[in-house]
Amino acid sequence: MYHINEDWGGVEINFSDRQKRIIEIVKNNEPIPSKKIASKLDVTRSALRSDLSVLTMANILEAKPRVGYFYLQDSSYLTEINKLYTTKVNEIKSVPVVVTEKTSVYDAITTLFLEDVGSLFVVDEEDKKLIGVLSRKDLLKITLGDTDVSQIPVSVTMTRMPNIVTIRADDNVIQAAKRLINHEIDALPVVENFIDESGNPIKDNLKIIGRVSKTNITRVLADLGLEM
Ligand code: ADP
Repeated sequence: MYHINEDWGGVEINFSDRQKRIIEIVKNNEPIPSKKIASKLDVTRSALRSDLSVLTMANILEAKPRVGYFYLQDSSYLTEINKLYTTKVNEIKSVPVVVTEKTSVYDAITTLFLEDVGSLFVVDEEDKKLIGVLSRKDLLKITLGDTDVSQIPVSVTMTRMPNIVTIRADDNVIQAAKRLINHEIDALPVVENFIDESGNPIKDNLKIIGRVSKTNITRVLADLGLEM
């Protein structure tokens, strides 16, 4: 997990106390061989091995053979990685493409092509609350039968509430990515609760305010300022 910490040019890994001491030692004595770091900490070299490899993998320290460890000033890549934790779903979401439960499978497939999306969300005709999700395979599956898909409503093939996996606008990119992977799905509806007359959220009555798909997540990764 990465944490913001002002002391570290904006960003820092959640280091152990010993790792922090190693960094200080290297900063003040670079280049310094691991043997010397170990003696300053009064531990054996092998006890330091895993800490040193964490710090070099995180590009905080650099190991030069036969010379020793250097402190790397540049942790700008950490700022970039940190964006995965600080960027909200709200900033990366796309416009949701919705149909109603009475929409025919034929029209839904047409919508999929016209809107160039892989998933559609199904809303209640009356109050527009989220009631279903349609994936490409949901629609393909129904076309395999000997049926007239222009006469069949999407409600027969959609995945329904309460089985819909959702995300909130103030969740972060990593949370969205994990939810997509853990549930083996391509897209998440970004939702908020409808509010009753007294201003309280109505449970299980969700309004769709966006869509986050694997494409949105991949775009965030591609846009990070990381060198190839
Ligand atoms: P595909 O079926 O084209 O591979 P998905 O992996 O997104 O696309 O969908 C797999 C199944 O999961 C489908 O039956 C679909 O209805 C369902 N599904 C898709 N998105 C969600 C979601 N956000 N919550 C719950 N189920 C979903």
